[in-house]
Amino acid sequence: MSIHIRNVTKRFGSFTALDDVSLEVADGGLLALLGPSGSGKTTLLRIIAGLEHADSGTIEEDGADITDLHARSREVGFVFQHYALFRHMSVFENVAFGLRVRKTTDADVRSRVEELLRLVRLEGLGGRKPSQLSGGQRQRVALARALAIRPKILLLDEPFGALDAKVRVELRQWLRRLHDEIGMTSVFVTHDQEEAFELADRVVVMNQGRIEQEGSPDEVFDRPATPFVMDFLGNVNVYHGRVENGRAFWHGIPIDYPEYPHAQARDARVYLRPHELDIAPLAESWNRPGTSLSARVVRVTRSGAVTRLACRPHGSEAELHVDVPADVARSWNFEPGTNVAIKPRRATVFLPGPEYVI
Ligand code: ADP
Ligand code: MG
Repeated sequence: MSIHIRNVTKRFGSFTALDDVSLEVADGGLLALLGPSGSGKTTLLRIIAGLEHADSGTIEEDGADITDLHARSREVGFVFQHYALFRHMSVFENVAFGLRVRKTTDADVRSRVEELLRLVRLEGLGGRKPSQLSGGQRQRVALARALAIRPKILLLDEPFGALDAKVRVELRQWLRRLHDEIGMTSVFVTHDQEEAFELADRVVVMNQGRIEQEGSPDEVFDRPATPFVMDFLGNVNVYHGRVENGRAFWHGIPIDYPEYPHAQARDARVYLRPHELDIAPLAESWNRPGTSLSARVVRVTRSGAVTRLACRPHGSEAELHVDVPADVARSWNFEPGTNVAIKPRRATVFLPGPEYVI
């Protein structure tokens, strides 16, 4: 089942929550809606589900206009951030709920619920109450419940938002495998970029009710279309710079930028991401004036496999962040005070536009 959203606008009073949003979800695709709180993600999901109605625009499923179809008739499964399980009902009855409403026979309910509990790896726990489960298990019950009625579309609104980091990572890997198994068209809302990039085939970045960028995770990550996307993807070093003749200049150091081949120099905003900078002790042979910047390490922070070095370029108060694999950081023996050379492998450059403010 494919979904086609065309020119959807939604206002709450004078506030525009969705502003002319158009979007396609391919049949069997897993699309992540990524954006800060308040950007309109939940509103869009509720409009797809039929729980909310757009002021203008249309929604199609497999080419059929369902804009005015009632939520009940849309065959959509919905999983919310908060488990929203029935507390007084067993896990079995929670999963069975939609089937009972549809007057399914007891025998069919039993076989379907057991199949679903196996699918979400909760076989044998049907007799428990939600309070006797962990947060991650409860969210898997919520998913089984959403799947029970064999929806054509699965909508998930920050389903792991209330769980701790380790469980979130496990559950999203599990959800990705589950999606590959059952192949249902799914839209997943998150404000966590890692979650979006790990899970989804397509990522849509939203901001203030509009789509900033839509693409594969690689496209969005490697070629952020707007300064907002770049900032939102986080952890960037931003500088005033200049472009001319196919190169951007950062502290006088040239970086290839073929998108601007012109001879006339222009001011630009240069974004350097911490993992796109090379760093070595100052004595290293690739350090040459004009191709790398000398700096001093001021802080070393290890987080898992990555070590982040906060550095201060000589003669500057600004900090520059560089990420290196933890084993590389160890082998170079970086510590506060180490003199280093930094060389950008790549930069993303935004030329001044109408809303150019730095
Ligand atoms: P997100 O899920 O991205 O955090 P939402 O879609 O929930 O964003 O909300 C987008 C904006 O619309 C927010 O500013 C929110 O306050 C507003 N909004 C959402 N639902 C309502 C409503 N029922 N009444 C008034 N304003 C709403
Ligand atoms: Mg929301």
